[in-house]
Amino acid sequence: MSSQNEYSFFQSVEKSFDKAAKFTKWDSGILEQIKACNGILRLRYPVKRDDGSIEVIEAYRVQHSQHKTPCKGGIRFSEEVNQDEVMALAALMTYKCAIVNVPFGGGKGGIKINPKEYSVYELEKITRRYTSELVKKNFIGPGIDVPAPDYGTGEREMAWIVDTYASLKPGEIDATGCVTGKPVSQGGVRGRKEATGLGVFFGIREVCNMPEVMSDLGLTTGLADKTVVIQGLGNVGYHCAKFFSEIGGSKIIALAEYEGAITNPNGLDVDAVVAHRKKTGSILNFPGATNLAKNTDALELQCDILIPAALENVINGENAPRVQAKIVGEAANGPCTPEADEIFLKKGILCVPDMYLNAGGVTVSYFEWLKNLSHVRYGRMEKRFTENLNMNILDQMENLTGKNVSDKARKVILHGPDEVDLVHSGLEETMITATREIMDIWKSNKEIPDMRTAAYVCAINKVGTSYAELGIFP
Ligand code: NAD
Repeated sequence: MSSQNEYSFFQSVEKSFDKAAKFTKWDSGILEQIKACNGILRLRYPVKRDDGSIEVIEAYRVQHSQHKTPCKGGIRFSEEVNQDEVMALAALMTYKCAIVNVPFGGGKGGIKINPKEYSVYELEKITRRYTSELVKKNFIGPGIDVPAPDYGTGEREMAWIVDTYASLKPGEIDATGCVTGKPVSQGGVRGRKEATGLGVFFGIREVCNMPEVMSDLGLTTGLADKTVVIQGLGNVGYHCAKFFSEIGGSKIIALAEYEGAITNPNGLDVDAVVAHRKKTGSILNFPGATNLAKNTDALELQCDILIPAALENVINGENAPRVQAKIVGEAANGPCTPEADEIFLKKGILCVPDMYLNAGGVTVSYFEWLKNLSHVRYGRMEKRFTENLNMNILDQMENLTGKNVSDKARKVILHGPDEVDLVHSGLEETMITATREIMDIWKSNKEIPDMRTAAYVCAINKVGTSYAELGIFP
């Protein structure tokens, strides 16, 4: 968190929104409605700790917009949770869903706890009670509001949520669609876990494949050999690191976690770093790497791409002047403040905004929700059919030409899509389309200062159209 916090997180989002709104045609009434948080639920409920004491838990769920329903957004477990933060994150969800054409309104939840200070049993009680409070207040349901994992939560918590919801709503046939990010055995979709990191990778890859954008930055096109620094080795950061190095061929030259940061100009093996951290409890003292004095020093290293994938406000008016990256890819939500944006603009740094770049999670959540409503696994109906069809085409080709394709090519041609193939491909299509759409808006008006503003223009236009077409209920 920034020490200077010039604006609250929600005010930062509003500031970015206002900056973009002047490039749109909507009147002030519609703009006010798009910005406003439609529903805010503030909860206090008791939980009995393992030692018998009672603790009052502070929790939130915010439904920012219902221009499309259900609302959608993660649940965060963090000591930093407060109403302003949840409101900001819910607003970002509205804009994010609009940009990637996911037909949801924005929502977000938060429980103000440090999960590391609670036993698994206590966390289960906190999560289940939170869910039953949401049910009581009509703030959850496959057609109402669908949470997902976020900072400090994962599949385990989502499994508790769906189980609690289903037990309170017996016979509700679409109950599994009340939350996404579930384990596959509980109605989850294959490919959800890595989705946000993979989406970040697809988005940045698309930017790096744009010759004119890259030449403006003084970089070559493509991801191969680009140097990358990542802050946060959680779900998003870890998968980013994996995809950038394994598919992109980029070099991960530094990693930062809350206990410290390490760097190696020759590249870090991410799995080896994770194994080292598991064994020693820290990423520091990783063989072959140099420890950095402060974990935030990693943000200021010379590199091509900097990926903050931990928390908000980590790059701000104070440290942005020292950022040396050419591209900042906002994998986390709100990692750069508006002051940082101004500085990036002056320094010619391209900031690829969170609002769409980390939309992989919600995109695949949408696929999971559709799977839950259709009650069938992706690929089940077409996999075998595609394989048989491809086999027939290949046989015909080989008979006509008298030649056989290699075993490797045969395997690729014959492969019918599994669920994970379809999910990854749907995500790739979504991120490429969104990147191009935002870049086209940016290019179409020279007055639009940066990519974040262009992304907001894209979102405001889509949500505005939705409100305008709905009309205002009398
Ligand atoms: P996570 O809890 O899995 O990981 C976060 C990591 O950041 C942890 O390993 C934590 O130790 C580390 N961290 C905390 N403070 C740090 C600091 N000061 N310096 C360096 N590292 C620090 O959470 P996540 O799901 O990976 O989410 C990370 C960010 O991405 C959040 O901003 C979240 O809102 C955003 N996001 C997540 C998803 C998703 O699908 N999980 C989707 C969209 C956006």
